[in-house]
Amino acid sequence: MKAAAELIAGAKRIVVFTGAGISADSGIPTFRDPLTSIWAHYDPEKLETANAFRENAALVWGWYLWRRALVAQASPNAAHLAVAQLAQTGREVTVVTQNIDDLHERAGSSGVIHLHGALDLPKCFACHRTPASVSLDHQFVSEGLSVEPPRRPRCNGKLRPGVVWFGEDLPTAVWKRAVQAAQGCDVLLSIGTSGVVFPAAEIPRIALKSGARVVHINTTETPLESPLEMSLVGRAAICVPAIVSPIAMPGEVV
Ligand code: NAD
Repeated sequence: MKAAAELIAGAKRIVVFTGAGISADSGIPTFRDPLTSIWAHYDPEKLETANAFRENAALVWGWYLWRRALVAQASPNAAHLAVAQLAQTGREVTVVTQNIDDLHERAGSSGVIHLHGALDLPKCFACHRTPASVSLDHQFVSEGLSVEPPRRPRCNGKLRPGVVWFGEDLPTAVWKRAVQAAQGCDVLLSIGTSGVVFPAAEIPRIALKSGARVVHINTTETPLESPLEMSLVGRAAICVPAIVSPIAMPGEVV
């Protein structure tokens, strides 16, 4: 923990790369946790595809309404807050997240790069446009699994979530910004990601190739590929504040 804190203290440009594990401490399950809700018998990887939406749009829309409700009830945890505090220390901090929730923003981080889009920005499945305004709040309380998606008034296309589904490409401009940040940082913190969803999982490797130090924080040991990496095993909500607090809140003991 101390070595990671020292790396951060000595860094000028930091990338914080996050996955579902950082939001797990806010009560949002990762894809590796067994679902215990009405969705217990569904596999997220099979619901989050264009084909699944074509076959059963109401089921896929219902799944995302449930996820929106979960996020709306959740609050940023100590890890999200520590990441936001890091940016107050005069260092250049870029947050690159695979998450579609808004917990980094609600913790105070700005300019967050969402590689996989955001739950709150639906777009049209037919014409791909984002409607000028759409309120989904009335659909928040879903009676069951399936809820018909609203339609975009101008073309009558069904709205789909503005997220990157399995099998879809990441938006080019978003990916470029993330790669540039990874290439230009001194230290990359990789928090709560299984590293199996590509191309997002390349981001820590891109930082390593550019000579940055990489600190992995996960509840399980991360296999290391380079002497520039280190692995901290523990919950994000404990580890991230522990390594950030010596500079964000000097005087606190790690
Ligand atoms: P993942 O579900 O594949 O892996 C989560 C990782 O977090 C695992 O390695 C696990 O060991 C670790 N983890 C679990 N709890 C943790 C904790 N408290 N502290 C630290 N680490 C913890 O997630 P991923 O790597 O982000 O990739 C899968 C896809 O899942 C992404 O595309 C992402 O969009 C999507 N997803 C997003 C959310 C969200 O927006 N909150 C939630 C679930 C899945």
